[in-house]
Amino acid sequence: MAIEPGDDGSPARYTLRAGELRLDLNARLGQWLTLTHTGAIACTHCGRATRKSFGQGYCYPCFKRLAQCDTCIVKPETCHYFAGTCREPEWGERHCFRPHVVYLANSSGLKVGITRRTQVPTRWLDQGAIQALPILEVDTRQQSGFVETLFKREVADRTNWRAMLKGDVAPLDLVAERDRLLEGLAEGLDELRGRFGADAIRTLDEAPVALDYPVLESPTKVVSLNFDKTPTVGGILMGLKGQYLMFDTGVINLRKFTGYEVVVD
Ligand SMILES: [Zn+2]
Repeated sequence: MAIEPGDDGSPARYTLRAGELRLDLNARLGQWLTLTHTGAIACTHCGRATRKSFGQGYCYPCFKRLAQCDTCIVKPETCHYFAGTCREPEWGERHCFRPHVVYLANSSGLKVGITRRTQVPTRWLDQGAIQALPILEVDTRQQSGFVETLFKREVADRTNWRAMLKGDVAPLDLVAERDRLLEGLAEGLDELRGRFGADAIRTLDEAPVALDYPVLESPTKVVSLNFDKTPTVGGILMGLKGQYLMFDTGVINLRKFTGYEVVVD
């Protein structure tokens, strides 16, 4: 599934990609839609058939071999590169030694997150954030991990996806939150600058971004649907938010089922 920002404040655009098929999901809102998993799962990296999906759509050998499946992707502060144990140092150089952004977002309340510069605003749409604000830019993924760890003293780093889907999330003044946090954590940031260089961690002065989603009606009770338990999921498509399709029968996180072969009706 591809999620793109809408034009001029219009809701995000969702496209279901299944094989050759490109289905404009926004156009299906309010209509009947079912997805049936055929039982086949293909590794998103090597294409091999796999009985089970590991990580976000990998076969077991790829999951164990690829740097992008290593634990340091989720916990960048544990980067293995400098210890010489990066699974794919060249991949690391291409992806981790690039500017990363530390941001505040409001998905189910205030959270901190990190992403590569090039992943903005996709990452926020993936999380179902209604507001986001880049606050710091750093030179490497590892540094972003250290900064995020520091911020986690004060702010959550996770989304409560049920609250996010229910949609009753109050807007926040992210600029005020940024100023409060930068001030409160100034000592820790100075320490990191002392370690990585004064220019390695740069304060950004950007405007907050507002994000909107195509939702006819948010669920009052969130029922989670799962291809592993019921191969056919669907109903009337009520909304699209984050990585979720919301039906009148329940919600499904499609990103979780990357690589699953589905038939669309
Ligand atoms: Zn594979």
